[in-house]
Amino acid sequence: MPPSIVLRSSQLVANLDALRAHTSPAEPMLVVKDDAYGLGAQWAAETAMHAGVSWIGTYDVGTALALRETLGTVPRLFAWATSADDEVAQAIRADIDLGVGSMDYLERVIAAAERLGRSVRVHLKVDTGLHRNGIAPAEWAEAVRRTLGAERVGSVRLVGVWSHLAEASDAEDDAAQALFHIAVREAEELGARLEHTHLTASAATWERPELRGSLVRVGAFCYGVRSADGPEIAELAPVASLTAPVVAIDGDEVTVGIGSLDGLPSSLSGRVTVGTPAGARALLSIGLTSTRIASWTGAAIGDEVVLFGPGRVGESSPTTLAETIGTVGEEILTRLAPGIQRRATDEIVDRA
Ligand SMILES: *Cc1c(COP(=O)(O)O)cnc(C)c1O
Repeated sequence: MPPSIVLRSSQLVANLDALRAHTSPAEPMLVVKDDAYGLGAQWAAETAMHAGVSWIGTYDVGTALALRETLGTVPRLFAWATSADDEVAQAIRADIDLGVGSMDYLERVIAAAERLGRSVRVHLKVDTGLHRNGIAPAEWAEAVRRTLGAERVGSVRLVGVWSHLAEASDAEDDAAQALFHIAVREAEELGARLEHTHLTASAATWERPELRGSLVRVGAFCYGVRSADGPEIAELAPVASLTAPVVAIDGDEVTVGIGSLDGLPSSLSGRVTVGTPAGARALLSIGLTSTRIASWTGAAIGDEVVLFGPGRVGESSPTTLAETIGTVGEEILTRLAPGIQRRATDEIVDRA
């Protein structure tokens, strides 16, 4: 049996339910960028839809187009990567909401909609301090006027105003929110009829209710990846386990069939425990294609070892592993080789 990433759809649903309960009346947008941090954007988006989540954030247009194909016309798909003209045209045809964070991109998006004779749903991004893809406050009024002009002739619908927080300190995030509020007010004074405002990702969404807009864009926490060195959150648990089989037994050590070529950081060697049928055992060393683990009584070839999981039988979580080597849980997930089999263990109950 090769190593696998086991996906618990019911845990993703539970996390989304907890998110909604915690943040209502804000609506959740599940962020599935980086192929849902390596877990599979299709699986994550489909599960979220069945859980009644109607917004999916993809980052890139390509992923949004693929989800439109498989999920149909119902979910609102939000892609905020500045994209080439042909992708913009495809996005408009597929009714994808576009995040627009520069004057140049705004002009290209409007031009694409005019060429198609269609209306494009736009969320204008204001720069609130990150200085990374966002319209500068000095250009904001001009961007809003231009967008509303295009709205009047039917080529744009200005759906929302958004920004992104550094989440480095509360003070910086407060300052960003103040700028955000000014931008929203200015847009409304210029005549925008916004359906949504959105500012926060996982940590700020959960811990700073006063920063939330009407939508919250959440990735990591939905997958049960908490902030590195952040608090455990009782309502959320990891949705994925990484498992590998015992392939050899050698005295007081066993070898499992997964290594650094599969994306396991070799720096974890000697620093963490893994879950075995007998409970927690030390991970001794990670080689290219195999890993050595302290043995247990009755260990057998084919026994399953859990490299990370939701926290049973001595399992570490992705974030616990990440903290050991000074990185973040998302990184542990996204490093895993695309070739590792991903399989969902449980049925999705349709409540949409
Ligand atoms: C990644 C990202 C998110 C989600 O971040 P998490 O910390 O995974 O919740 C939200 N918004 C934007 C713009 C992002 O790039």
